Order: sequence, then C-alpha cells, then structure tokens
Amino acid sequence: MDAGIASFATLSIGEEIENPRHLKKSLGNLKRQQRRLSRKKKGSKRRAKQKNKVARAHQKVSRCRKDFHHKVSTDLVTRFDSIAVEDLNIGGMVKNHHLAQAIYDVAWGKFFNMTQTKAESAGRVFKRVDPRYTSQICSNCGNKQKMPLAIRIYECESCGLIINRDHNAAINIDRAGQTRNYARGERRRSKKRERDSRPQSKPRRAV
Ligand SMILES: [Zn+2]
Repeated sequence: MDAGIASFATLSIGEEIENPRHLKKSLGNLKRQQRRLSRKKKGSKRRAKQKNKVARAHQKVSRCRKDFHHKVSTDLVTRFDSIAVEDLNIGGMVKNHHLAQAIYDVAWGKFFNMTQTKAESAGRVFKRVDPRYTSQICSNCGNKQKMPLAIRIYECESCGLIINRDHNAAINIDRAGQTRNYARGERRRSKKRERDSRPQSKPRRAV
C-alpha cells in the first residue's frame, strides 16, 4: 500500500482509496476558521471566541479521520493476508523536509499502527519496508529513474511501462514486504535442513 497525498492510498492491485468527502469538508472548515482567527485582534473577546471555534473544528477533523482510519484498516485486514507499508521512520530522514509533511506523517503513523494491531491480532502479516526508491524503480523491469513529485505517471525509459505513479510504488512496496517474508522462510528452512542432516542415533523410518 502506498500512502498518498491526493488520494488516501493506492493498493498494489491498483485500487485507490479516496479520502471521504466529510473529512475533506471538515478540513476545509478547519482552514476557514483558522484564517478567521488570524484576522482577529490579539486579546479581544472575538479572538477568544474564534479560538474556541478552531478547537472544535480540530476535534471534528480528528474524529472524522479516526473513524475513517478504523473503516479502512478493518477492510484491509479482512481482505488481505499480507499488508506492507513504507517505514516512516526511515522515510522521515530521506523524503520530508517540511514541517507540514511531518504533521501529515503523524496521521499516517497512527493509521499504520492501528492497521498493524488489527492485522497481527487477525494473524495477518504486517510489514514496514524501506521507502527509498519505491517511486523511482520500475515495478516491471527494475529500472531506476528520477521521479519528481509533480510527475504522476511512471513512464519507464527502459521497458516502456506506463503506470500510475502511486500504483507503481504500491507494487514495489508490496514486493519488498514479500521478499522479507521469503528471506525469513528461507532461513528457517535452511536451519531445518541443518537439523535434519545431523547424524541421528536411531535410523529414521522411511515414509
Ligand atoms: Zn521498466
């Protein structure tokens, strides 16, 4: 799953999850109330009143967001055995230079934690993968090319793949999650092989 800006998220199967309309509306209202607050005289009664309105608008936004997060995380855990997301702790170092983005990541962090909790209690696999180059690598041939944020379509210079930028990233994230699964499985298997090849005191019965 690739966390979006325009839409909420894009899944590796190509599905886009949109932000719900009521969340957009309450965000719009919050911005409007904040603008009004900035126009009120400091120390005035009107300013105090407006501060209250901003606080309430804030609450409304976080309630809406939380409801939506619950809905999406439950839906994902119901539909998929394995969910991979970008590890924001690594991403923060690489991708984000703006405070606004950092605040935005806090909401994502909460959503990821919520999804992880639900996934693990349902016996699903939840992975956080290294977010570097997930947008730049071609999900079809592995070619790496520059992808400035404004470019929304990935057009591979090497194999000619044309795909939505976020969909391409979601496939890469999913694959990175699968690879780690596989690598772990391999290690377990090789340990088992070691154990099996150890000399045994009693000969094993052939099955
Ligand atoms: Zn390619």
